[in-house]
Amino acid sequence: MGLRIFNTLSRSVQEFVPLDPAGRQVGMYCCGPTVYDFAHIGNWRTFVFADLVRRYLEFKGYELRHVMNITDVEDKIIRRVRETQTPLREFTGQYEAAFLEDLKTLNCRRPHHTPRATEHIPEIISLIEQLLARGLAYQAGDGSVYFSIEKYRGCGCAYGQLVKLNFDEMRVGERVQSDEYAKESVADFALWKARVPDDGEVFWPSPWGEGRPGWHIECSAMSMKVLGQSFDLHLGGEDLMFPHHEDEIAQSEGATGQPFVKYWLHGAFLLVEGRKMSKSLGNFFTLRDLLGKGFSGREIRYALISAHYRETFNFTLENLQGARTALARIDECLGKLRELANAAKPPGAAPGDLLTEFTAALDNDLNVAAAWGAVFDWVRATNRRLAAGELDAAMATAALAEWEKVDSVLGIGVVADAEAPPEIIELLEARQAARQAKDFKRSDAIRDELKAKGWIIEDTPKGPKLKQA
Ligand SMILES: [Zn+2]
Repeated sequence: MGLRIFNTLSRSVQEFVPLDPAGRQVGMYCCGPTVYDFAHIGNWRTFVFADLVRRYLEFKGYELRHVMNITDVEDKIIRRVRETQTPLREFTGQYEAAFLEDLKTLNCRRPHHTPRATEHIPEIISLIEQLLARGLAYQAGDGSVYFSIEKYRGCGCAYGQLVKLNFDEMRVGERVQSDEYAKESVADFALWKARVPDDGEVFWPSPWGEGRPGWHIECSAMSMKVLGQSFDLHLGGEDLMFPHHEDEIAQSEGATGQPFVKYWLHGAFLLVEGRKMSKSLGNFFTLRDLLGKGFSGREIRYALISAHYRETFNFTLENLQGARTALARIDECLGKLRELANAAKPPGAAPGDLLTEFTAALDNDLNVAAAWGAVFDWVRATNRRLAAGELDAAMATAALAEWEKVDSVLGIGVVADAEAPPEIIELLEARQAARQAKDFKRSDAIRDELKAKGWIIEDTPKGPKLKQA
C-alpha cells in the first residue's frame, strides 16, 4: 500500500498520487521563516515536520523539489528595521543565517530552493498585473492594490477552500493592509502596499508607484515560479491556514485559472509545559535557548517528531530528558550491532522486519508515533537476540543496513566522536594528559566534569571514546 495523507482541502485521508504522469517527480512548498528574530520551538515543529515529509518521500523513491521561501520583507521586519536603524538586508541577513544554521543543527535537509521575497519583486508585480487584468484586484485611494474577494467569488471561484467560512456573518468587502489580520474578517487584502513614511528606505518602484509587496502574494509568486502553476504539496503550520493559505489559493487560482495545490498538509500547534508559548509566561524557547540548557540538536529533533503531526504537541523539558534516554537506548543497541558486525561478512538476513512496520506506520498519514513504536520494538528484540547470542556478524551488518534506511527518514543519526563540541574534545585531551602524568585525581575529576556535561568516556584498546550520556 502506498502513502496516504490527510489533505486539508478534502478534509480526509487520501492516497498520495503525484501530478507527474510518470509518478516520480514531486513539488513541495513549505512557508518559510519571517526573518525578523530567531525562530522559536513552535516554528521548528513545522520545519522539522516538513523535513520528515521530505525525507519520507525521498525514502519512497520520489524525486523531490523542496522549496521554502524566506520572507525578508513584511510588516514586523519593517518595524524592526526602523527601530534598530539597520539596513533591510543587513537586518534580515543575520536572522536568515541563524535560521539556516539552526536547520542544520536539527539535521534538516536543506530545501533545494530558498527564494527570498526581495529578490522576486518582478515576479510579484507581474502576478499582481495578471490579477488586475482579470478584474480581481483594484487600486484603492491609498495607492495600494487589493485583492477583491467579492469579484473572485463572483466569477465562480471558492474562497474558503481550507476553512469553512460563514460569509453571511462576516463583513465581506472591508479592506486590510496588515499582513496578519483577524480571523473573523474575510477582508480584501493588500497585494501591493503603497509606500508610507514609516517604510523608510524599504520600497520598490512598480506600475502603481513606490511600495512593497504584501506577505501573501510572496508565497504565490515564488512557489509558482519554481514549481509551476500547479504542484503537489503545500505545507505549513495550522495557524497559517487562514488567512495566509486561503489568500495564496485565491491569488494563484485567480491569476492562472488552474488548481494551485493538490495536497495541503498542516502541522498542529505546539504547547510548552501545557500552555500557549509566550514570553510573559517564561515558556518561550528558541532552539538556541534549549541548546544553552545542554540539550543537543538530535534530542530536540527527536522530541519534535515524537508525536503525530496533526496532534497538538505538549513540549516539555521532561520530553527532552525522555529523548535523551530513548536515543541512548538506540545508540547502545547500534553500538553492540556494530561491534558484532565488525567481523564483516556479506549481509545475511536482518533480525526483524523493522522496515516493513516502519513503512506501514508512515504510509498511514505519517504516523510517526507508530513508526517510533516499530523502532523500539526492534531495539528490544535485537537486544534480546544479542544477549542470547543468536546474531552473527552477517546478521548484525544486515540489521545496521536496515537501520540506515530508517534513519534516512528519522534523521537522528549517530553521534560520532568527531561531532563532540571543541570544549569537550579539549577536556578529553586534558584527561589523557593527566592520565599520562599519572595524576589520577585530576583525570577522574575531568571524567566527572564530562559526565556532568552529558558525555561518557569509554576506554577501549584503541584509546578513549566519547559517548553521549
Ligand atoms: Zn506562505
